[in-house]
Amino acid sequence: MRPEILFPLFAPITTLKGVASRTAPLLEKVAGGDLVRDVLFLSPQNLVRRRQTTVALAQEGQVQILKLIVNDHQKPARQGQPWRIRCRDDTGFISLIWFKGHGPHLEQRYPPGADLAVSGLVERSSYDMSLQIVHPDYMIAAARIGDIPEAEAVYPATQGLPSRSVRRFALEALDRAPDLAEWQDPAWLEKQRWPSWHAAIAALHAPAAEADLLAEAPARRRLAFDELLAHQLALAQRKRERKIQAAPAIEPSDLANRVEAALPFRLTGAQVRALSELRGDLKAGQRMTRLIQGDVGSGKTVVAMLAMADAAAGGLQSALMAPTEILARQHFETLQAPLAAEGVRAVLLTGRDKGAARAEKLEALADGTAAVAVGTHALFQDDVIFHRLALTVIDEQHRFGVNERARLQAKGESTHLLAMSATPIPRTLELTVFGDLDVSRLEQKPPGRKPIATRASPMSRLPEIVARLREAVAGGAQAFWICPLVSESEVSDLAAAEARAASLVKVFGPRVGLIHGKLPAAQKDAVMAEFAEGRLAVLVATTVVEVGVNVPAASIMIIEQAERFGLAQLHQLRGRVGRGAAESSCVLLYDPPLSEIATKRLDILRRTDDGFLIAEKDLELRGGGDPLGLKQSGFPAYRLADPVAHRDLIAVAADDARLILARDPDLASTRGKAVRVLQELFDWRPAGLSEAG
Ligand code: ADP
Ligand code: MG
Repeated sequence: MRPEILFPLFAPITTLKGVASRTAPLLEKVAGGDLVRDVLFLSPQNLVRRRQTTVALAQEGQVQILKLIVNDHQKPARQGQPWRIRCRDDTGFISLIWFKGHGPHLEQRYPPGADLAVSGLVERSSYDMSLQIVHPDYMIAAARIGDIPEAEAVYPATQGLPSRSVRRFALEALDRAPDLAEWQDPAWLEKQRWPSWHAAIAALHAPAAEADLLAEAPARRRLAFDELLAHQLALAQRKRERKIQAAPAIEPSDLANRVEAALPFRLTGAQVRALSELRGDLKAGQRMTRLIQGDVGSGKTVVAMLAMADAAAGGLQSALMAPTEILARQHFETLQAPLAAEGVRAVLLTGRDKGAARAEKLEALADGTAAVAVGTHALFQDDVIFHRLALTVIDEQHRFGVNERARLQAKGESTHLLAMSATPIPRTLELTVFGDLDVSRLEQKPPGRKPIATRASPMSRLPEIVARLREAVAGGAQAFWICPLVSESEVSDLAAAEARAASLVKVFGPRVGLIHGKLPAAQKDAVMAEFAEGRLAVLVATTVVEVGVNVPAASIMIIEQAERFGLAQLHQLRGRVGRGAAESSCVLLYDPPLSEIATKRLDILRRTDDGFLIAEKDLELRGGGDPLGLKQSGFPAYRLADPVAHRDLIAVAADDARLILARDPDLASTRGKAVRVLQELFDWRPAGLSEAG
């Protein structure tokens, strides 16, 4: 329940003076919410400084304050002309220009001889070269000159709602901000020299210098930390709640050890670590929610398979859900033989299974003779019944909706959840995105992978690249040729991919395939199989090969319009090659001119193939915003915290949240009660993977 002290902040924005039906939607858009609180949390982005000067010393292009005497009013001679108020001081003349018919009213109020205090942008008229101010920001009686602020915060604005109106609303919201009991640890506050919450929010709205606008400003850091703490508390609470749910204990098994021993390779150190973390969770008898984060090809599936083998050894079932049919099939092919060798039956279930074959698989899952199910979303259809589902593995979890995950999990009474993600999240951000999960990272790749020679080329070099590709193909190489497919321009993108395939057919003959999302699944699989078996030399693809598809023989990756892809996406695409024994290469084709950022991004790709490092660099390069498509992965939309600029605070907030809950799980102490107000103030409802639990 929301504490009463916060009621004024949780009132609708329409309770702010001057917010009428026309303004409300605009303000709501700017504030990202319809509450007074949302307006209070708006941060000024800039500062306008006003210095008092004289007409003779006034600088063009600067916002200044002038003390003037009205000389005369010059009425518009024709429609469309402005009203001019000619003013003077001891040093010269300047005109105040008003369009929009304010004139008669102004003349009445400020007749010739009236003393004025005026502020606005000083310009030189293109018409008669005299000095002028168009629509002064301030025009008041000279006696009130002190009312004109020397430094004025500039707020985010929108068409029809200028910054100055937003500022007025923000200041009114500030008037309603109560003093709140301190929720931060006093020693920590003192060490940081941070103000109280109220002082900090007041300072946010009263910047006196540029330094106050920086993310490093003490008031801003304090407010950011509050927000991060509120979020981390929500995540930690969720994690605790889940931990108390019981789930079947799955013990490490000899069966899984035999499967592991039979693999044609040894697990990497990172895989061993991840497996033991997983096993630690699984045998605890509490519901696991773990994420394995690792680059494409880092060997996540193998780790999951061994956990599934443990489950099978204990008479329990597991299900692996993949976002596409091609991927489900590949996972199945990876798992099926090693498990079968130990007598564990796996079935593949996709949308294409029909009739008797499907019925047989469903029966095997229902009576438990099949211990492992691999499939697409076909896995959570109503007629799929498990005998004893205990472990759900979700590949590329961000590609599934919350409901799909929840429905699969609901098939087991209380199933352990293992998610696998090849979207590397920088370590600094891990806590904000996955704070409610346990995370294992596969930072080390299986040995023997050769670096992929990567270079960027302008489109004009296309003939050269095709010529070289022809040589390589003559020598037996296979290549992916990626064309972008963006939903906004889907039709033309698709046409471009088709045209590319057609032009490559002219060079390479029939050994060119085309695959895109619009193809029926069966046809996609057929083309993919042809490529995997080496019958196709060049596979033109929109981004369908992005996730996980494994074709070890392919050694060349050509990406068209690379500037249109995100860095993480480019990295994942490139990861499709370099899996076999051959030297691999990647060509990033771009349409010049490249922006500075795009140049840097392509440069990073040329220099490293460490997905975690790439993610970290991408974050640095782009600063704020949503550099990695994180919103998709449940990344929170902070209002006051900047996940990049304030990243040093994230881990501290997470530690603090854990500590607070460990000492006072019910938040019943004095500080606990203050912390509850903090949580209510930010009102976190964490999204993302956690919703499935
Ligand atoms: P991911 O799911 O992380 O993309 P996979 O589990 O599909 O990676 O593994 C990619 C490829 O690497 C597979 O062919 C797999 O058999 C192989 N592999 C996995 N672990 C190792 C290892 N420790 N040593 C050598 N090869 C490995
Ligand atoms: Mg994979």
